[in-house]
Amino acid sequence: MHGLVSTLTGAAYAATAWNVGGMPVPTCLLAGGLCAAAGLLPDLDNHDGETLGESVGLAAAILPLLMIHRFEQWGMPLEFIVLAGAAIYLAVRYGLAWLLEKYSVHRGMFHSFPAALVAGQVTFLAFGAEDPLHRYVIASAVVIGYLSHLVLDELWSVTQGQFGPKHKTGFGTAFKCWGKEAWSSLLTYVLVVALGALAAGDAHWSERTLPQRRYARQQMEQAARMAQPAPPQAPYYR
Ligand SMILES: [Zn+2]
Repeated sequence: MHGLVSTLTGAAYAATAWNVGGMPVPTCLLAGGLCAAAGLLPDLDNHDGETLGESVGLAAAILPLLMIHRFEQWGMPLEFIVLAGAAIYLAVRYGLAWLLEKYSVHRGMFHSFPAALVAGQVTFLAFGAEDPLHRYVIASAVVIGYLSHLVLDELWSVTQGQFGPKHKTGFGTAFKCWGKEAWSSLLTYVLVVALGALAAGDAHWSERTLPQRRYARQQMEQAARMAQPAPPQAPYYR
């Protein structure tokens, strides 16, 4: 159910970004896909083994893929990129899953407004596209997908009673800003502030260096066009 709603939300978001925002098609498709996947994230606090394994696996696989351009910006050779991707996958798939199983509470802070912000900020930092606007579009897609889950959880907890709508016990536990446990709420806000500072610094850096990076790429493309095709040579291996 959550997947269906977030997929529909993602499709609407992608269509809007393309039609109104004038975003390129690949950005819109990725935004739609991430919005759909983000609808599963809040239930990472669900300790039911199968659900947890599936959502964590999806997040673990997507995160290193989002970071590929980041690794390239850091000048990492391809071999290290593959190794780093595998390390991140394992850390999220097993490390994070273990932490979640041990410490998270169902309908705890994972079902909250600041948690949606954290998901968006992590995406913004991971996805190092050259054009800053594309990063905002992608990060917002994750926040919207995440929120679609919370809204649905809230709607679900309102049932039609004999005298009009009746609230079930879960009401108000999904779309909240502060949880029952102080430490997890505080931790979430610390994450929001820390990631926010990182993201702001990163956005500033990438916007400042964008002209230089664009220029460097143009120079490289021009050099590639000017270069004479090399005569075919037999490859040699060392
Ligand atoms: Zn939920």
